[in-house]
Amino acid sequence: MRLSYGSARFLGLIKSGPILNMKTIYTLFGEKCTFDCAYCAQARTSRTSEGMLSRVVWPKFEMGDVVKAIERSSEVKRICLQIVSSKGVKDEAFYFLRSVRNLKIPISASVRILSEKEGFEWFEQGVERLGIATDVVDEKLYELYRGGELKKHVSLLKKMAEKFPSRITTHVIVGMGESEKQMVEFIQKMHDIGVTVGLFAFTPIKGTKLENHPKPSIHSYRRIQIARYLIEENLANVKDFKFSEVGEITDSGFDMKNIPDRAFMTSGCPDCTRPYYNEEPGKESYNFFDSIKRTSFVVGDRKV
Ligand code: SF4
Repeated sequence: MRLSYGSARFLGLIKSGPILNMKTIYTLFGEKCTFDCAYCAQARTSRTSEGMLSRVVWPKFEMGDVVKAIERSSEVKRICLQIVSSKGVKDEAFYFLRSVRNLKIPISASVRILSEKEGFEWFEQGVERLGIATDVVDEKLYELYRGGELKKHVSLLKKMAEKFPSRITTHVIVGMGESEKQMVEFIQKMHDIGVTVGLFAFTPIKGTKLENHPKPSIHSYRRIQIARYLIEENLANVKDFKFSEVGEITDSGFDMKNIPDRAFMTSGCPDCTRPYYNEEPGKESYNFFDSIKRTSFVVGDRKV
């Protein structure tokens, strides 16, 4: 099995390098996905070097050593399993789940499931939350970059959220080509059916089909972070937002001075920090995982 570099360092399985705020330990199971998402390092046709997911390097470890290290640490608040759809992956991941179940640490699994039955299997194995990524929220772009039908996917999310209330997370990637309006509408739709949204910023990875696609502007990302925060906290509804002709958020109907810092922190399951998943050290972070060091950004004609 693999661990994110930051998680391995936090658990003391790697001895050098800075220790980051890792409330969640990130594990990776499987390799070379059967799916072929245009932006993913693990996609079937990706030419990215082994053991990468987004910007993060995931070194290999013996499962027994990982379990013991988690057991020794008193600071782990969540364990996240990133599942690459590939042969034998469930057997290995389920074995790991059985090994950590008695530690009583909440577990999230991020899996591309295609049916409710598949989703149930993960809950039966003791996961607390299931992450079912959407990534792309425009129907045509979904088909193009991810494959499959967005409508079917949303209907599956809805069914899962009905069966497992407050236990489903989805991920969306900002910067794939949708307008901000489309993103906000999707976030509202998910909120209405009880699905938590984790925001990611598109990160071009060398060797993937979208290696030359640009990253989103920090201004656009911040506006979507605010929208997600307001909707999630029931402080605003998509109907309260105003958009420009090209679908850019110009007003949220909320006093921007009252937006707290946590709107800009990593979002998704509780205690998820994902340090440097989308960020480059030295550049302004899209998602902050400890303290906020942001510059101002623009909403409509105002600087925030
Ligand atoms: S939001 Fe974080 S903890 Fe939850 S599934 Fe996604 S990466 Fe894992």
